[in-house]
Amino acid sequence: MSNSSCPIVALVGRPNVGKSTLFNRITKSRNALVDPTPGVTRDRQYERVVWNNRAMILVDTGGIDDNPEDVLVPHIRDQALAAIEEADIVLFLMDGREGLTPADYEVVDILRRAKKPVYHVINKIDGPEKELELLCPFYELGVETLWSLSADHTFGFNTLMDALSETIEASTMSQDLPDGTVKVAFFGRPNVGKSSMINRILGEDRMIVSEISGTTRDSVDTLLTHGNYSYLLIDTAGIRRKGKTTEKLEKFSILKSLGALERCDVAVILIDADEGITEQDTKVIGYALDQGRGLIILVNKWDLLEGDKKRQDEVLAEVGRQLPFIGFAPLLTVSALSGFGIKRLFPVIGSVYRQYSAQFSTSTINRLLREAVTVHAPPIYKNKRLKFYYSSQIGTCPPKFVIMSNSSKGVHFSYQRFLSNRYREGLGLDKVPIQLIFKDKS
Ligand code: GDP
Ligand code: GDP
Repeated sequence: MSNSSCPIVALVGRPNVGKSTLFNRITKSRNALVDPTPGVTRDRQYERVVWNNRAMILVDTGGIDDNPEDVLVPHIRDQALAAIEEADIVLFLMDGREGLTPADYEVVDILRRAKKPVYHVINKIDGPEKELELLCPFYELGVETLWSLSADHTFGFNTLMDALSETIEASTMSQDLPDGTVKVAFFGRPNVGKSSMINRILGEDRMIVSEISGTTRDSVDTLLTHGNYSYLLIDTAGIRRKGKTTEKLEKFSILKSLGALERCDVAVILIDADEGITEQDTKVIGYALDQGRGLIILVNKWDLLEGDKKRQDEVLAEVGRQLPFIGFAPLLTVSALSGFGIKRLFPVIGSVYRQYSAQFSTSTINRLLREAVTVHAPPIYKNKRLKFYYSSQIGTCPPKFVIMSNSSKGVHFSYQRFLSNRYREGLGLDKVPIQLIFKDKS
């Protein structure tokens, strides 16, 4: 597993400077591998993009603001401020045809204070002919580099993207972690108790802790040793912003979660016992599933329900109802405040990770497949009985298996589910997602 994180790249600029044109140019470009992952990315305002092997989450902040008519300075200032705080890299677009405007000045000033890479992009420079003339007024800004671009006609586009991917490479240099370090990220909406939980964990006995700076500027990861294992705790609490949680920031916080999901092995989702599951929780869980991450659900603040058996049962039933599709994920009731249940957490993380990274011999898997087929004969498809020839493991984290057959199309959902259950049982993989891939033997 790579340690690289997935930085958030925000497109900022006045309405009509060409943000969505650039967004589309990047996400539709043949060079960009856009991940059509369902879940939050469906939103269109952000998309995961890979350029030169560097992954990023691209955000059109114009899309985040629902008010494109609003050309006032305060509006774009908010946009810039949010981007500075939440993004890792900012692409600030200006309009080369219109020239420099007072709003641009102000935003450049704000961006100057940000300690993160900013690209000052002059858009609508539709070719080299007028480049110098159109760029000229912008030199007044006194920024080091101006990037000329035509988002519409691709002039300057590859140059910009190549530079961007180099910046990403430099900012996401892999961390030096001990071999076999388990990367655990904590998710949950603001105030659910993430920081309290991490503090509580760090306060436990026999933890040897060192803080190492995260791969993105805002996060601080904690490396700790517990028993014979090393763990990297990835805190997404930096997302927390009390009293100021607008919808816009909520979206950014989901994006940040995506970045953390990219690089974790096990996603720990905290749910507030008193408030239940929120839409954001469901989104993050959905994304964790898409990414095939190990998953643990912590129902925190269990102390608030102490002695109230009825309420406790209700809460657990509600969680089960809302999340029927993650039956494999261990669920613990805990209290970061009192410490209740915290001791169970590491053993559970350990067993999830062992399953997540487990490897099996081909002979074991084939025996399992043969037995499964004997127990429950494969269906007939187009007048022929389905045949399975062999199976092997093609990946870990999560465990992935290929099954070769005479007609992969004929393996309908219920038989897939049957095989999947047999694999889970036979291999002792009850706590993680597994992937079965059916292929035709040529
Ligand atoms: P946004 O409001 O910042 O997202 O801007 P849009 O991407 O919607 O673009 C606003 C207008 O500028 C549209 O009419 C685009 O076609 C036009 N536009 C965008 N990029 C370029 C460019 O590179 N050159 C020219 N000439 N027009 C552009
Ligand atoms: P974060 O925003 O997710 O990092 O949440 P915090 O760790 O800052 O906790 C938010 C609030 O919830 C604080 O006032 C905590 O004291 C409180 N809190 C956290 N865990 C528990 C818990 O297990 N039980 C109770 N009753 N309160 C908790």
